[in-house]
Amino acid sequence: MSHPSTPVTTALRGRLVLPDAVIEDGALVLEGDRVAYAGPAAGAPVAAAHAPAGTTLLPGLVDVHDHGGGGASFPDATSAEQALVAVREHRANGTTTMLASLVTAGRETLIARAQLLGALADAGEIAGIHSEGPFLSYERRGAQSPEHLVPGDAALVRDLVAASGGHLRSMTVAPEVPGVAGPGGVAEALIAADAVPSLGHTSGSAEQAEALIAQVAPALRERGLEMTATHLFNGMPPLHHREPGPVAACLAAAARGDMVVELVADGVHLAPATIRSVIEMVGADHVALVTDAMAAAGMPDGSYVLGPMAVTVADGVARLTEGGSIAGGTARLIDVVRATVAAGVPLLDAVRAASWVPARALGLNDVGGLVVGRRADVLVTDADLRPVRVIRAGVDVA
Ligand SMILES: [Zn+2]
Repeated sequence: MSHPSTPVTTALRGRLVLPDAVIEDGALVLEGDRVAYAGPAAGAPVAAAHAPAGTTLLPGLVDVHDHGGGGASFPDATSAEQALVAVREHRANGTTTMLASLVTAGRETLIARAQLLGALADAGEIAGIHSEGPFLSYERRGAQSPEHLVPGDAALVRDLVAASGGHLRSMTVAPEVPGVAGPGGVAEALIAADAVPSLGHTSGSAEQAEALIAQVAPALRERGLEMTATHLFNGMPPLHHREPGPVAACLAAAARGDMVVELVADGVHLAPATIRSVIEMVGADHVALVTDAMAAAGMPDGSYVLGPMAVTVADGVARLTEGGSIAGGTARLIDVVRATVAAGVPLLDAVRAASWVPARALGLNDVGGLVVGRRADVLVTDADLRPVRVIRAGVDVA
């Protein structure tokens, strides 16, 4: 005999971080996989027990640049089980929505990974795929494999979209690489597939960045999406007053609402003053905090790989074994939020940039905020923003 299932109701109490306010004595009511109430504890329809002092209720975090963790990496995964090791490492630490990021590799490898990860997106485990490359600057390749960098190829974009089952959500591109900007180029093919061109790993000029932003930002907006910059400052020339490069163009675009800039605000990739100045300058509404995590996230120091590149992690910092370029991060997104708050950014802004803004930029409108009707994704932390409980779609996952 079957019974109609009654949705499980969960009530939580603590400092509540909404998309645009922090409520000191807040409450959250979840019904089934949805948020049913998020507001002052005094007005909650279901009473929640008092929580330990400092308990903080955050939305499940949204990481749009993440190559792996827990010893596994998406560019190297050859089975769903391997990829899920990385997904679960981040999820257990509060990242309830993530893109799986690839790195520059040969065509066959990219197609195979797009198929594997597209199936994980179909299963609801990840929100889609971010491809970092392969149409990037040789000079500013960072940890990207030099022999696989190629000129812009719109047909390859369409093949990746098809192989992923339509789950390619973003691709890092350098505007100066031939075949990226302009009619028939890579950016156009990405937009047609509802995927976000993300400006990065570029040695191009300010003018080349401005031209790509002018082409992409309005076209994406019509589709409910926003252009991004891939880890602003990293993988691009520093701002020089006579040679401003892409940084100035990206900051201006973010300030006027044409771009969301990623910051790997983990305390390694950027100085604390850079983090707080950028967020103050362009506003948290135009910043996405990301991890750029690789396999070593949540793991000890040692030897790892990132796609075809060998990486050595020492004192938690990942560098190419040959050459010493920074090769991704080892933090989880809550660690980045904690580092951002430690840099002097208000909690509300740090959390918004790690949830609401990246979700909005990629059109993920069911997640990213503790808002009635959205998916019940909650990260409960202690006063120091250390995870104590993670709920995804109403179900405890840590
Ligand atoms: Zn990356």
